[in-house]
Amino acid sequence: MNERYSRQTLFSPIGEAGQKKIRTKHVLLLGGGALGTGNAEALVRAGVGRLTVIDRDYVEWSNLQRQQLYSEQDAEDRIPKAVAAKQRLSEVNSDVKVDAYVMDATPSEMERLLDGVDLMIDATDNFDARMMMNDLSQKYQIPWIYGGCVSSYGISYTILPGETPCLNCLLDQVPRGGMTCDTAGIISPAVQMVVAHQTVEAMKILVEDWAAVSGKLVSFDLWQNQHTSINVSRMKNESCPSCGENPSYPFLEYSQQMKTAVLCGRDSVQIRPPANGEWSLEEVAGTLAKQEGEVEQNPYLVSFTTGKRRMVLFKDGRALIHGTQDETEAKTLYHRYFG
Ligand SMILES: [Zn+2]
Repeated sequence: MNERYSRQTLFSPIGEAGQKKIRTKHVLLLGGGALGTGNAEALVRAGVGRLTVIDRDYVEWSNLQRQQLYSEQDAEDRIPKAVAAKQRLSEVNSDVKVDAYVMDATPSEMERLLDGVDLMIDATDNFDARMMMNDLSQKYQIPWIYGGCVSSYGISYTILPGETPCLNCLLDQVPRGGMTCDTAGIISPAVQMVVAHQTVEAMKILVEDWAAVSGKLVSFDLWQNQHTSINVSRMKNESCPSCGENPSYPFLEYSQQMKTAVLCGRDSVQIRPPANGEWSLEEVAGTLAKQEGEVEQNPYLVSFTTGKRRMVLFKDGRALIHGTQDETEAKTLYHRYFG
């Protein structure tokens, strides 16, 4: 064990034995935004063996205030977050194997990536993704750590399959939207507080110090000086469709239809076509160049601005339509410009 981890191994609950365990573990991080970059950096610095990062978006200027792995150049070049994160993380600790995926993970894609994963961390901004992780966690018996933040508020909870209630059991206890990072804003200390909670819980799980795991639903509002910690152990629902006696995992069904989703109140709609496969960005850019509007391209995506709308198409055929929250309009634009 080299000097790099000396301060962490001096911390007795981890020690040399814990450090060796951390080194053998594989963490999957869903989301590469504020919570994702914070958790990723902390775990990579801590010496986790392998980290899988999945994100569907690219870096924008409004991210830089709190998404700690990204630079002005990443925003300027619209680099996908997963790609930019991997690059930065490899500079931080080259011993860690980082796998980065630019995609909006469906249940079947997640199932493909879960082999050998010891822990999942929620760094998403939406409940569909969280409920999917929750069902995957139960089906494959992999712990996961829920986290969310908006404004100066944050919330977190660790789910151990077979032990704690799952997120589905606690739905009445957790906020399900309304406020999002775009409408209410967010300050970085709220992010860092959730990251701190998620990372320390992750460390406990990675060194297998199960007794130290919190088991409480914690939330706080740093501006209002409020902190709550709720013991939820008695809220496990025996007939829960995710963790009960006869689970049906309702959030793992994936329809073969085109899917649209309004993104975290950001005046954007995501369109996900049913078929997977790689698109030729050159071809798309070539076709768009004949239309009225501005085409920009990098190795990962094509951006097309026309009037008040900007559309970004990724290699997997997925698109973000900016400047609208109307899903029908977004679909019409998608078909008009991308086929
Ligand atoms: Zn449950």
